[in-house]
Amino acid sequence: MDMPQITIGVLGSGQLGRMLVIAAAQLGIKTHVFAPDAAGSPAGELAHATTTAAYDDYDALSTFGASVDAITSEFENVPSDTMAHLATLCPVSPGTAALHIAQHRIREKSFAREHGINTPDFWHITDSDSLVKAMAELNGRGVLKTCQLGYDGKGQLWVDPQDDLAASFAALGSNDVILEAAVTFRAEASFLVARAADGRIAHFPPSLNTHKDGILARSIGPANLPEALLAKGQKAVQDLADAMGLVGLLALETFVTNDDQLLFNEIAPRPHNSFHWTIEGCATSQFTQLARCLAGMPLASTHSYGTWQMDNLLGEDMTNIEALAAEAGLHLHLYGKTAAKTGRKMGHTNRQITTN
Ligand code: AMP
Repeated sequence: MDMPQITIGVLGSGQLGRMLVIAAAQLGIKTHVFAPDAAGSPAGELAHATTTAAYDDYDALSTFGASVDAITSEFENVPSDTMAHLATLCPVSPGTAALHIAQHRIREKSFAREHGINTPDFWHITDSDSLVKAMAELNGRGVLKTCQLGYDGKGQLWVDPQDDLAASFAALGSNDVILEAAVTFRAEASFLVARAADGRIAHFPPSLNTHKDGILARSIGPANLPEALLAKGQKAVQDLADAMGLVGLLALETFVTNDDQLLFNEIAPRPHNSFHWTIEGCATSQFTQLARCLAGMPLASTHSYGTWQMDNLLGEDMTNIEALAAEAGLHLHLYGKTAAKTGRKMGHTNRQITTN
């Protein structure tokens, strides 16, 4: 018999794409990476095919879209016109509705509130006068974030009432900014759900996350959370995925307050750094589950084998690489990046910390 040949198209060339390419290959699924720097990139160097072109090169997009069976994006900031064009050629995940929401911090928090999910207080800031007014209402510490294109703590600035607010606003370099109340939290937890084209879902066990300088440093999963919080987080992420009609993965980052309230921070319709531990820690990793969703295969078990700790390896951590490589039982993942710059995600390690 002839086996069906499926090819997944991947927009983006980084480590999330790379780990999806690896997971797809294990299922006999081919991948085609499309990015302005696809050739030789972390994802592109392992894919079956690459297209090196800009995201607004519609001729290249058309050829790409016609040559694959489904398309996903490893980053949520892919232009929505690009996804809309590709959607005319084959199934895309995330769809344009999900991207539109996830690409803008005000839109995603408003969307969360519409679905009954609490968020920190927030204000839309478009000039320094609106910042002065909002800070008077907040009457305390806040964090300013550009509404679009921020990641890993970039485009963020903490503000106190006594600060020179005009200077703080100017420092962001944007007139589309969110001010959020500073949350005092006892933990940061993330939730992840996979949703198949037929609406079936599979929850992953949640993660507890520690950030350093705005960048995720460590995740522990499954998170040891009270049952009620676990249920609340899973319901929240599932409600949002259902409401967006999402096919693929949706990650939800939350704050757990001292009185055990769950507050929405942000969503990402893609694999999430805080779930890299699922590669060895779960029967099915987040990348395998996404490949299954895209290939129209059934979702598989997300059962976890004990508790796992994931540590990101940034450029500055690479001086320690020999010791890590020598550590028995440590699962070392490197992304094939040549330049180890400070703050750049070069790889991660997964360690099993309890067996049950
Ligand atoms: P974000 O890019 O919005 O996920 O922010 C990066 C990290 O900054 C978060 O994971 C938190 O550790 C911290 N952070 C962001 N927003 C807030 C907030 N409103 N209150 C307290 N900490 C925050």
